[in-house]
Amino acid sequence: MMNISDLPSRVSDRLLQPYWDHLLFHHLPLISSPFFPVLLAFSSYVLFSIPFSVLDLLGERVPLFHQYKIQPGRQPTSGMMAKSFMAALYNHIFFVLPSVIISTFFLPAPLLPKDAPTLYEVFIDGLAVLLLFDTQYYIWHFIHHKHPQLYRWVHAIHHEYMAPFSWSTEQLSIPELMTVGFWSNLDPILFKCHPLTIWNITVFSIWMSVEDHIGYDLPWTLNHLVPFGLLGGAPAHDMHHQRPSSNYAPFFSHWDRIFGTAVPLKKKLPRL
Ligand SMILES: [Zn+2]
Ligand SMILES: [Zn+2]
Repeated sequence: MMNISDLPSRVSDRLLQPYWDHLLFHHLPLISSPFFPVLLAFSSYVLFSIPFSVLDLLGERVPLFHQYKIQPGRQPTSGMMAKSFMAALYNHIFFVLPSVIISTFFLPAPLLPKDAPTLYEVFIDGLAVLLLFDTQYYIWHFIHHKHPQLYRWVHAIHHEYMAPFSWSTEQLSIPELMTVGFWSNLDPILFKCHPLTIWNITVFSIWMSVEDHIGYDLPWTLNHLVPFGLLGGAPAHDMHHQRPSSNYAPFFSHWDRIFGTAVPLKKKLPRL
């Protein structure tokens, strides 16, 4: 006899299984490739950034969106966007891809289980990984703003622009990219995440990182949809680019609140 308490997990078991079976049977060469996570991450960055760069280039011609621009006097140019994108592309071609190739000689091929994760597992494991990453990056970020040499040589390239824009999300130095990549690979292993959960975390965390940098306080972004101001989003991270001794956490707001580094966005900034 089926226990009532088993019902939710059994139902959610079935929800992702057809999708997972489809991936295993029809896309196995792709999803088992060691290059798949990088492809997923980079294509997410590109796809999520494009719509916001169109908004940036249209600027005041689309007042529906431009009214939400946090720093309306600081509009990114196509040259600035190209520079940020080329920095990310350069890092991926000359550092990330060679690192993946080297890792294939040392690391075993990823195991793809037959069973899909439950929706509950995807959510709880995903939340745990995001909370851990948020803590790690908060500490790293704080240290790299307090130590002048670390800031200058490792983090300053990300602060080239006081008004961030979507492509600037991945304008990072190779040491910063290495650190972020190390945690992004290690944290899901610590929580024994299913590959499908890991790929969800990859796409979702890149969406949140791009949202941090869009430069618009849109009413439907995650920081407005998730209650109690639990997520910082674009207002918090835009403020970090304006006033770098504030809002060090990448996703959540609790560490900045606890340690007194949370600074709310100043509205109505003067135009340049
Ligand atoms: Zn930033
Ligand atoms: Zn910073």
